[in-house]
Amino acid sequence: MQMPFPMLGQWVAGDGEPLPSINPATGETHALVGTPDVAQVDAAIRFADRARRDSGWSQLKPHQRAMRLQAVAAAIEQRLDHFATQQMLDNGKPWKECKAQAASAVATFRYYAAVCETLGAQVNPARGDYLSLTLREPYGVVAAITPWNSPLTMEAQKVAPALAAGNAVVLKPSEVTPLSALALAQACEAAGLPPGLLTVLPGLGRTVGHELVKHPLVRMVSFTGGTGTGRALAGVAAGRLVPIALELGGKSPQIVFNDADLDAAEKGVLDGIFEGMGQSCVAGSRLFVQRGVYDAFLQRLVTRVGQFRVGPPDVPTTDLGPLASHAHRDHVERFVQAALQEGGTIAAGGRRPDDAALEAGAYYLPTIITGLTNQSRTCREEIFGPVLCVIPFDDEAEVIAQANDSDYGLASGIWTRDFARAWRLANALQAGTVWINTYKQLSIAAPFGGYKDSGLGREKGLGGLELYQQSKSIYLATPHAL
Ligand code: NAD
Repeated sequence: MQMPFPMLGQWVAGDGEPLPSINPATGETHALVGTPDVAQVDAAIRFADRARRDSGWSQLKPHQRAMRLQAVAAAIEQRLDHFATQQMLDNGKPWKECKAQAASAVATFRYYAAVCETLGAQVNPARGDYLSLTLREPYGVVAAITPWNSPLTMEAQKVAPALAAGNAVVLKPSEVTPLSALALAQACEAAGLPPGLLTVLPGLGRTVGHELVKHPLVRMVSFTGGTGTGRALAGVAAGRLVPIALELGGKSPQIVFNDADLDAAEKGVLDGIFEGMGQSCVAGSRLFVQRGVYDAFLQRLVTRVGQFRVGPPDVPTTDLGPLASHAHRDHVERFVQAALQEGGTIAAGGRRPDDAALEAGAYYLPTIITGLTNQSRTCREEIFGPVLCVIPFDDEAEVIAQANDSDYGLASGIWTRDFARAWRLANALQAGTVWINTYKQLSIAAPFGGYKDSGLGREKGLGGLELYQQSKSIYLATPHAL
């Protein structure tokens, strides 16, 4: 049976081509999701715009919007297992990771409810006989477009602040993972959010996504996905003169010095690349290890990687599940072949698992490659899979230059006991996030985004709400001026 999606204040089957949602752990289609045709995309956006005005959402006092967001948080919390299951079926992440991401979606709604409570106008210093205030107002209808790797996190991260800011949101989830967004719409409905404030339009990027970004009533776009797609959407947004926030790809360096706590570095480096099977924008996919510990550290990594349990995501002992789709597994496989052709050596993995029980799924072994330089294609292009390239280095200046020699600048990790050196590197690295003796530590309270080709704008933190607002300055003459 075809799953409906929420638009025009109801759940509809849609007149577009249905989307099969395929479980990457088994290769089976577990749902057929309805999609809108072009006319329905237009109708849904118009409805969202009317809903925002008719419901008075933008005019509500911030604390009143905050109460609704708290109710959405509670509704997600009541359905935590359902949310986690939807993501696990769609992208094959292990259950415990999906459950943690569902819990973090709750925290995101709570955080932006709290931020919403604090919204106010700014009083500007007067330079004459007037009182000057700067208010912040919503854009209207915001288009949110998300990828497949962590839909629970990405969708909450856009929808919660955009709603808190007073907008209506039209969310287009990835065609690979439409189910979490549908669960979010159900939770919003259960929480009493006025119909039309969150519309979910499943479908392909080139059809539904394209219609959304070019629609005249969409006044702001928030996109997370690949750099190529982001660049193309930025072109459309520029032509329309609407703001766009872009969270894009990465090729993040991890740097291990001779004096590092190697136990901590081992865990941080391995989790940093292999958690989520490398399908993480901040995956630490380029590892620089100082020459003095290179051989010993590499040996540690290879030994530990061989102990990872690759298996079905719903089995509690599984460390690593399948990749999110068979097509993506094939893409990763081609990258590893290309790495061999350009002179790389496989130190671990580099193939599908032997286990016949996993044959139908999109499985691939965690892979470590040595023998390549930072100039290689393998080290320059985002693979977005479980592939770690290990490169030796000699001194600090050299490793800073190599780490920064990348089109991307999303994140980076430093492992050393020398505080002064860690501080120097943290300042020198061109990345939106720098981790010192930890990795992938993420907080909704800290701004997140990329340097260079990794993006434009910052999500999360207090500014994550302002991203979805425009400012208006008002001058009021004081009696002296009259
Ligand atoms: P993608 O760019 O292929 O797709 C992302 C979304 O854009 C999907 O919903 C897709 O349907 C839509 N889309 C594609 N073409 C479109 C078009 N012409 N118009 C409108 N929408 C369109 O990316 P993906 O493969 O889904 O995700 C992987 C990428 O996402 C990786 O590069 C990864 O680094 C990046 N990512 C970045 C972050 C971050 O915060 N920086 C987080 C997660 C993922």
